[in-house]
Amino acid sequence: MRPYNLRVAAVLLEGKRIAERITRDVRARAERLRRERGTVPHLVMVRVAGSDASGVYSARLEATCESAGIRFSERRIPPASGERGIVELLEVLGRDAAVHGILVEMPLPPEVDLARVRAKIDPAKDVERINPMNQGLVVYGAVELAPCTAMAAMEILLDSKVPLAGKEAVVVGASGIVGKPVALMLLGHYATTTVCHKETRDLDFHTRRADILVAAVGKAGLITREMVKPGAVVVDIGVNRVAGPDGKSRLVGDVDFDAVREVAGFLTPVPGGVGLVTTAVTLRNAVAAAESAGN
Ligand code: NAP
Repeated sequence: MRPYNLRVAAVLLEGKRIAERITRDVRARAERLRRERGTVPHLVMVRVAGSDASGVYSARLEATCESAGIRFSERRIPPASGERGIVELLEVLGRDAAVHGILVEMPLPPEVDLARVRAKIDPAKDVERINPMNQGLVVYGAVELAPCTAMAAMEILLDSKVPLAGKEAVVVGASGIVGKPVALMLLGHYATTTVCHKETRDLDFHTRRADILVAAVGKAGLITREMVKPGAVVVDIGVNRVAGPDGKSRLVGDVDFDAVREVAGFLTPVPGGVGLVTTAVTLRNAVAAAESAGN
């Protein structure tokens, strides 16, 4: 590993290799289930027709599932059925022994109460780990129940072999689904962890102290070069659509990538970093749910 104080471009922590490793493991486990129990893990995505969701994630997930030996199907809800329709379908899927994993395409229409929907996903089939019961158990060290994106960020950190114990970790963003669970897992690895949020005064003061900096806000360009300690490990979870120099829209993270790359020791790209690993972790949760289901 490169010494932290050398000022050359950061090593990129790409998600592809890690996602492929996880997916290989998923494929082997799915194959074993098929061979030994005649079970094909089945993941169902609930989609609300007419919502703002693009369907791009669903299509990508379907392709990845197929390559990993997981059956993927979609259940569409007409917009008129609203929250009640979603909740009723989630109850049916929860009882259906032939369904091992459930996820709900986001974003949902604004009139739908997301908290109520999350709570209705059967915790044992909740492959994205967004049911509050799963999220809550992370507090007690059940990291396998951590929300997928938070888990993906940790997979990347652990794969990089960067030591965490005793390091200063700063997480910017405090949502229940990303920032808080990442912070809890860093704490679990004995990093001294600070969580920053929108009321944090002098964000730069905190980020500049960070050996490990995790950005999870959803604000392009939030983390500038001046905010990063030389040699720091920077994990960029943010996903933002911005207009590129050619006028076409493109995806960027929360980190000013080109500038921060010159000062950080390690940096995840967007796209190609946390997002790829998140999908692989979702599949791993689906195969684990099928293994536990016992059918
Ligand atoms: P979220 O629910 O909107 O949470 C954002 C968090 O950042 C909130 O805690 C918010 O505080 C805080 N915040 C807002 N402005 C801030 C500022 N200026 N400084 C510090 N903190 C600030 O979003 P999320 O679901 O956690 O997602 C965060 C980002 O990760 C988004 O860009 C999202 O697209 C991305 N994401 C990526 C993946 C992936 O697979 N790569 C998956 C999920 C999410 P308040 O709550 O007080 O407003």
